[in-house]
Amino acid sequence: MRKPVLIVGAGPVGLTLAMALRRRGVAVRIVDKAAARTDKSKALVLWARTLEMLDIEGCAAPFVDAGLPAGGVHIQEAGGKPLLDVSFSTARSVYKFALMLPQSETERLLEEELGRLQVRVERSTELLSFQDSEGGIVASIKHADGLVEAFPASWIAGCDGAHSTVRHALGAAFEGDTSPSDFLLADVEVDGEVARDALTICWAADGIAAFFPIDGSRMRVVADCGPSAPTERSAPTLEEVQAIVDQRGPAGLRLRDPVWLSSFRINERKVRDYRHGRVFLAGDAAHVHSPAGGQGMNTGMQDAFNLAWKLALVWHDRAGPALLDSYSAERSAIGDQVLRNAGNMTRVAMMRNPVLQEIRRLAAHNLGRVPALRQHMVDQLSEVDLHYRDSPLTLRHAGAASGPAPGDRAADVALLKPADGSTRLHEVLRTGKFAVLSVGVPPVELPAALRDIAAPVEGIASTDYPSGHVWLVRPDAYVATGTSGRHLSEIVAALERLVLRPGAVSGLPGA
Ligand SMILES: Cc1cc2nc3c(=O)[nH]c(=O)nc-3n(C[C@H](O)[C@H](O)[C@H](O)COP(=O)(O)OP(=O)(O)OC[C@H]3O[C@@H](n4cnc5c(N)ncnc54)[C@H](O)[C@@H]3O)c2cc1C
Repeated sequence: MRKPVLIVGAGPVGLTLAMALRRRGVAVRIVDKAAARTDKSKALVLWARTLEMLDIEGCAAPFVDAGLPAGGVHIQEAGGKPLLDVSFSTARSVYKFALMLPQSETERLLEEELGRLQVRVERSTELLSFQDSEGGIVASIKHADGLVEAFPASWIAGCDGAHSTVRHALGAAFEGDTSPSDFLLADVEVDGEVARDALTICWAADGIAAFFPIDGSRMRVVADCGPSAPTERSAPTLEEVQAIVDQRGPAGLRLRDPVWLSSFRINERKVRDYRHGRVFLAGDAAHVHSPAGGQGMNTGMQDAFNLAWKLALVWHDRAGPALLDSYSAERSAIGDQVLRNAGNMTRVAMMRNPVLQEIRRLAAHNLGRVPALRQHMVDQLSEVDLHYRDSPLTLRHAGAASGPAPGDRAADVALLKPADGSTRLHEVLRTGKFAVLSVGVPPVELPAALRDIAAPVEGIASTDYPSGHVWLVRPDAYVATGTSGRHLSEIVAALERLVLRPGAVSGLPGA
């Protein structure tokens, strides 16, 4: 019998990985040293791409039902004069909103989903150390009663946060730095005129104040306090936050009944390699960055989706372990991009120089007038523009398809005929298989050796998927390759190469 995958950490990333692996039939064990789930709101936004991935897992609905859809971002001057409004109604996804949901709720829903898959989080259970050898992992795990267990695992995933034990044990450098500026955070009831269905960011001469709706009346307020003493400041008082809001926010807001008051500094750090032999790093264990753009948790959850389908194929012996190398190549590149974008957004928000602030004001004003630039901002925030064009798994060749390019996100599309009960492309991906999507050409006949990893389906032609082409879509809804109807053998060759079992397939269909 195959040994389970050990997941260290039951934050949003560990829970996502456990759920996605278990859904694909992988035996998992998930431990967390904390006695209980967080009760803090921490990461507040689920972006469209993360919701699409939860949909592929068959569980987006409870998240959407529990959250508050925010329709856009308002950028204003102090006092409330509008500078730039960006609407998410143009998001290239069925999820045309930012879903506001406290992290405590996201974790609760993920844990409930995991429970339905018969997996229980083992709490007050701490990974102390591990050994990685040819035969697998042996992890040393400490229980609440002090008992230390030696647990054999096939693979270990360090989803254990910014201070990751797994990363420390690997000796992997967490390269980057900590900003000397302090930020204040308050989850409070807010009375007065501020959007309850959008994000509001106020740019004032002495810093920003941002308002994120949590529910009808409660909001997250975040403000920067500029460069300060070497030691991090203590949590602010409600009065301090109110004073900043009076100075920078829309006029007349009253804050009351704080649930959480905190301060933080921005860390921008990342490991170079997300895989070391049988050990993976994901989420905050691999990358931490500015909360600007709200991408931290989303990026971590998408690390987990990326790893899960690959690890499941390898665990079931349907693909060679070399497939796992692409996890680090793909996700480290995304990590670099997120770090860069979040860093840029933070620097723009924190500008203190009056000349630069005036340039910023003019730039925002002009950005609002150019639809293509606004769309770029929506694509970036909703994360539908993330791609793996430079991945070793992305294959280009002659006779390429129009529509989504190799490496790009594969949007959902209705199927011409239901396939095993699925009516949409993303539903087909729930099986954990690749989809071979034909549009306007007959479905591809797959050799028997590939039928346990890929399903042929026929889609309805659309602006996303023009007629006359075939796309090989990965289980995480990215295009591995595409071809015109005249080069179908490319699809089988690509599949064979992706799972790295050359010679597994004999008799390619008509070229
Ligand atoms: C104040 C604050 C505000 C934030 N705001 C935002 C935001 O607006 N948007 C955003 O995207 N992100 C935000 N974040 C970041 C977001 O919370 C993280 O990106 C997210 O929690 C990362 O999830 P994770 O699962 O990787 O790690 P974590 O949530 O840190 O979970 C790691 C888990 O591992 C467990 N663990 C650690 N070591 C061990 C061990 N040795 N053995 C067993 N278990 C272990 C811990 O107990 C913990 O439960 C915020 C964070 C903070 C602190």
